[in-house]
Amino acid sequence: DDLKALDELVIGCRACPRLVAWREEVARVKRAAFRDEEYWGRPVPGFGPPDAALAIVGLAPAAHGANRTGRMFTGDRSGDVLYAAMHAVGLASQPTAVRIGDGLELYGTRLAAPVRCAPPDNKPTPAERDTCRPWLARELELLRPTLRAVVVLGGFGWQALLPVLAEAGWQVPRPRPKFGHGVRVTLPADEGGPPLEVFGCYHVSQRNTSTGLVTPAMVEDVLHTAKAAAGL
Ligand code: SF4
Repeated sequence: DDLKALDELVIGCRACPRLVAWREEVARVKRAAFRDEEYWGRPVPGFGPPDAALAIVGLAPAAHGANRTGRMFTGDRSGDVLYAAMHAVGLASQPTAVRIGDGLELYGTRLAAPVRCAPPDNKPTPAERDTCRPWLARELELLRPTLRAVVVLGGFGWQALLPVLAEAGWQVPRPRPKFGHGVRVTLPADEGGPPLEVFGCYHVSQRNTSTGLVTPAMVEDVLHTAKAAAGL
């Protein structure tokens, strides 16, 4: 289908020289704990069914997480928190994500990122964010017939996503709504049709969870509300 074809194109992308060099260098050197593993070392496509009603949008793959396993949020601490919360509210078949082929299924939910390649220090440049933007815009356009809600993890994702939603066919108010945990914004569709409910949630990064800025209960709370808004 179209989304599968898009995933293939994403995986082959080499548009950002700095990120291509970094993702491949990390995959070559590896972390000692993963010495015997074959790293993915490429852009990470979205994960989840093509008729998702809910999208969860993060920041970018982690160097030794999704850049290693090839699946969003799989094999790192952020993913441990996210998938446990998704499982708790009934959006995932199991609470853990280890590798492609571990049996994990998402229910009505697609995970995506505004930047598809692992960046140094988890910090893409604005130019890299802009270069990657069309991939996410295309993905959301393809999901549009069924998509009813989006959860955005963190301020970077929020900044990146709002222009994408405007491109993909929803009306984004000016000035743009500000990011915050628990913020909810309703975006009318350009040509009639159902609106899109957008939710802000602090990122599930290790820094945010270890400092207690965001707790599993807070993430579950947002996911629970978003799930209902998506009709799941
Ligand atoms: Fe391509 Fe996005 Fe990776 Fe840049 S970050 S190389 S645009 S997939």
